[in-house]
Amino acid sequence: MTNIVIITSGIIILVFITVIFMLIKTPKKRKDSAIDYTAALNYLLAGDKQKAYDKLKEAVRHDTSNVDAYLKIGDLLRDSGYIERAIKVHKGLTVRNNLSTYERIEILKSLVKDYRIGKRFDKALEICGQLQEITRQEQWVQELKLDVLEERDDWDSAFDARKQLLRQQGINDDPLLALYKVQAGLAYVKEEREHDARIKYREAIKIHNQCAPAYLYLSDSYIREERLSDALDELTKFLEAVPKLAYLAFDRVQNILFEKGDFGEVESIYQKLLQRNPDIAHIRFALADIYERKGELQAAINLCKKELEQNPDSEIAKKYLVKYYARTGQNDDALEIALSLFEDSLQSAELFTCRVCQNTDDQPHWRCPKCQEWNTYVN
Ligand SMILES: [Zn+2]
Repeated sequence: MTNIVIITSGIIILVFITVIFMLIKTPKKRKDSAIDYTAALNYLLAGDKQKAYDKLKEAVRHDTSNVDAYLKIGDLLRDSGYIERAIKVHKGLTVRNNLSTYERIEILKSLVKDYRIGKRFDKALEICGQLQEITRQEQWVQELKLDVLEERDDWDSAFDARKQLLRQQGINDDPLLALYKVQAGLAYVKEEREHDARIKYREAIKIHNQCAPAYLYLSDSYIREERLSDALDELTKFLEAVPKLAYLAFDRVQNILFEKGDFGEVESIYQKLLQRNPDIAHIRFALADIYERKGELQAAINLCKKELEQNPDSEIAKKYLVKYYARTGQNDDALEIALSLFEDSLQSAELFTCRVCQNTDDQPHWRCPKCQEWNTYVN
């Protein structure tokens, strides 16, 4: 009987001592861990990644429940190029019980980064799926998923994701959606699938009929297959659909017609284009270039004068005129216009510019009226 009493008392005392020991010991460890963890955060802020890493390691040695410390250890490993180790740390966290929703989301976000850096896009998308579930399709997750799809060169899926996102935001942006189809086309070109690429470019035009790259790349694709007439047809459609960007097609048009031995055609194409769009200066000067090549300098000069009638300050018209007058021996006229150009440039040189916000004024400020910085106008 007494033995049982002694053993029982012994056990009770032992348990008591253990509890006391734990009570004393655990808070101390927790306290050490908290100090290390705080130190680590400060080193992170200061940009000292190695010290931060060491302190985080110390912190989790004393307190394995510090999820954020593990999270940051993984992030630092990723930043240092140890992708697989980062993934291992972050994945290890996901199987823990008792994670708060916030912690779970942060862990999954880090995992997506790991997989993206490691170019394991399928895995990254899988994690995005989990994030979508947890957050019930929050917009930032959809944007994240879109980034991953774009990185993976998966332009058709990215198109769908962007379309859905735009719909939710109540935004109509067909020009943007069309560019996704253009990217899909470019991805096919990389795989030398010209026909599939052209289908994508046509889809882009269907979505937005002023999608400039779609026309230009369509023509480039035909050029690569030596189908010059088809290439020219696309460029002609482009000039009609987006005349204000016509200059993007000029080199292509000229090269194609040169190749076809039909360079004379360029002049009539530009003339018709200018008739339809008399306000677009680029077209006028492209035509002037053609006249110059043919030695028809007076026609080129007339075009520049016409431009100056519409737009008396046109610097580019004056520059062309100086060149043409000098070539026709009209030196006085050339000098007069050159001087007026020179005058303009002197005047604009007199402006004072704030070196912080680029605000300009004809007098210097000692405190900028726009950005409130001191002494930023005069060096
Ligand atoms: Zn300023």
